[in-house]
Amino acid sequence: MKKKPLIIPIFIPQEGCPHRCVYCDQATISGVSQPSWSPIAVREQVQSFLDGSRRRYPVQVAFYGGSFTLMSEARQRQFLEPVQEFLKRGQVHSLRLSTRPDAIEVNNLRFLQTMGVKTIELGAQSLNDKVLSASARGHSSRQVHEATQSLRQHGFEVGLQLMPGLPGDDWETFMQTVEETIVLHPSFIRLYPTVVLSSTPLERLYKRGLYLPLSLSEAIDWCKEAKKRFSRATIPIIRMGLQPTVSLELPGRVIDGPYHPAFGHLVNSAIWNERISPVLQRASRQSPRLVILAPSHQLADIRGHRNGNINRWLTELRLTSLETVADDQIGVGEFRVITR
Ligand code: SF4
Repeated sequence: MKKKPLIIPIFIPQEGCPHRCVYCDQATISGVSQPSWSPIAVREQVQSFLDGSRRRYPVQVAFYGGSFTLMSEARQRQFLEPVQEFLKRGQVHSLRLSTRPDAIEVNNLRFLQTMGVKTIELGAQSLNDKVLSASARGHSSRQVHEATQSLRQHGFEVGLQLMPGLPGDDWETFMQTVEETIVLHPSFIRLYPTVVLSSTPLERLYKRGLYLPLSLSEAIDWCKEAKKRFSRATIPIIRMGLQPTVSLELPGRVIDGPYHPAFGHLVNSAIWNERISPVLQRASRQSPRLVILAPSHQLADIRGHRNGNINRWLTELRLTSLETVADDQIGVGEFRVITR
């Protein structure tokens, strides 16, 4: 299996971003309220992560949030230059940043290459122009296509972030976004179902009855289908759902919507439920005592949140016992059911 990089995160909420997308409260999402990074602070952050980690390979410094390429080149340098010494010493292997699809400019891409940036994540959010406009994104789906192509031509690894459930989005428009994204074939995807955060324009729309977020079960269904389609297209999803942060979990921050601290786990469990249920059903005709064998890293998702899948199968199939057992000889993404 490919080694996961050690990510050293540097959150720069809304720095460089003159926009105000309807849902955006970067400070709450990232858990950082003061974008006060100095070059010394960037260097110290990298050093302290390296000191605190025994893992040495591969290491990536990630500038998350905001719109990195909208900052002046002088300000971009203040983030990128302090990391150069770590790159030269081989302690950091690459850099990653996120930005907007309409903030990709060829001269700046060349500069980023010289500074060791390998991965650029684009906040695409949707590939439907009506949804983008209703969400005040300020860019079109065509700009997402152009930015993705331009980044790839310049040798960058491209990731796309999508937000199911934005204003104007429905099952059809989201699946259209998924299909168009598959055509673009990014290196990875992040799915962030839209939630209503306090003090955002979306909260005002919601309070006036002009926006209704997805329920948690709808968001799970949408992301389940998206994950299945992306998996078939061999495009990995590296995150589903907002990262739980202290500020996001403060009372009153999330007004409504499908926020759950273990959202990705819920989606993965729902997919396993769909795959394993018919196999268990057939096996339950032979014995009420069953065992699911699967690679160890899959067992938690198979069992479900708080053993939800296990308990449902026990009840619905009238089983007397149902165990999950690690078997790392079984291929990734596979499972077997045996009788006891
Ligand atoms: S582009 Fe990103 S940082 Fe800027 S307002 Fe929109 S979501 Fe927030």
